[in-house]
Amino acid sequence: MTALVDANLLGDLKRYGAADVSACFSCGNCTATCPLVSNDSTFPRRMIRYAQVGMRDRLLSSKELWTCYACGECSETCPTQAEPSEFMAAARRYAIANYDKTGLARTMYTRPIVGTAIAIVLAAFFALFMYAGHGPQSSGSLDLFGFIPEELIHDIGIGVMVVVFAAGLLGVMTMARAVSRAGGVTLRSVVGGRAPLRRSAGALWSALAVETLGQRRYRDDCDTDASAQPWHLRRWFLHAATMWGFLGLLAATVLDYGLALVGIKATGTPVPIWYPVRLLGTVAGILLVYGATMLIVQRYRGRERSVRHSTSADWTLLALVWITGVTGFVLELALYLPSAPTWGYWVFLFHVAVAMELVILAPFMKLAHAVYRPVALFFLALAGAPAVPVERGGENG
Ligand code: SF4
Ligand code: SF4
Repeated sequence: MTALVDANLLGDLKRYGAADVSACFSCGNCTATCPLVSNDSTFPRRMIRYAQVGMRDRLLSSKELWTCYACGECSETCPTQAEPSEFMAAARRYAIANYDKTGLARTMYTRPIVGTAIAIVLAAFFALFMYAGHGPQSSGSLDLFGFIPEELIHDIGIGVMVVVFAAGLLGVMTMARAVSRAGGVTLRSVVGGRAPLRRSAGALWSALAVETLGQRRYRDDCDTDASAQPWHLRRWFLHAATMWGFLGLLAATVLDYGLALVGIKATGTPVPIWYPVRLLGTVAGILLVYGATMLIVQRYRGRERSVRHSTSADWTLLALVWITGVTGFVLELALYLPSAPTWGYWVFLFHVAVAMELVILAPFMKLAHAVYRPVALFFLALAGAPAVPVERGGENG
């Protein structure tokens, strides 16, 4: 692989939050400290070396970039204040911005005031668009879909999903192509026959089930504050609670829509707390709000090394997740009050607008790591799996 030199790389990375890593002399303290290092004696300092010599393509095609959980241990032992942990976080932001071809991620990361303004304007746009098509506010019972028609929300939701899918797919394809080329992975070595398919299925299971949903390495290797914190305050648990909550709410929304489609229950119909979809939504909502609240508190206090530096993009994401979760609960409360409170309609409008914004901005901010990390973990698991002979000759397909 020919590596082109980008003389501006170091300066660019600083704009994404990296410290000055030019003083790094590759002493290897960070490697000795990193709980993720097993066979790779060059992680994470190799990434810093790429930045020092301007090897942009090598940096962007490094699957290892996404294995780091930002525990901050490496920064504790760095003798030159190169802040390798912050460097890794900045490099991931830089990667997200480079995989995105619209330039929106770059703006969100490097121009915090413009990024925040975009977030506010987008929420206002969704709210005004829905308000323009609003109906009456029933005073007997809270008729949310009488106020904002379900079809309107559905149509906006479809539009949002199209944008997210197109931007997300383009970004993932760009990333996967770079990582697979750098690792010598070909389509044939992944799906070219029964043995490669078995190996790929194992790598997929490891990336999605074991590492992403189960958080194995985060729990076992990167839980550096395990002895100092009870389980419900540990970083891996707060991260997992937020992720599980988000996925649970997504599943509850899709299921609720599916029930309406097959005529079992109209969307928004009051149901008892033990009704499966409502129960799933409530448990997921509790997890999401708890996880996001504690992550905000920890970031605000800034006691742990891992959260000592925060960017406006970190705060924007946490704020959107928290607002979506909390307004969802307030709405649930309003729905089950004996008489319809007028504020319930406005909370509904706000909740839907912020939720739409959170989803549409996902490929352009930190939330994108929810897709890029599993892809990188898949390639990492593939690289660690025993090689298999590729059927029908050769690996050059
Ligand atoms: S980042 Fe710091 S600890 Fe790591 S190799 Fe460079 S100087 Fe050493
Ligand atoms: S932040 Fe933690 S996981 Fe990431 S490179 Fe440093 S020590 Fe390793």
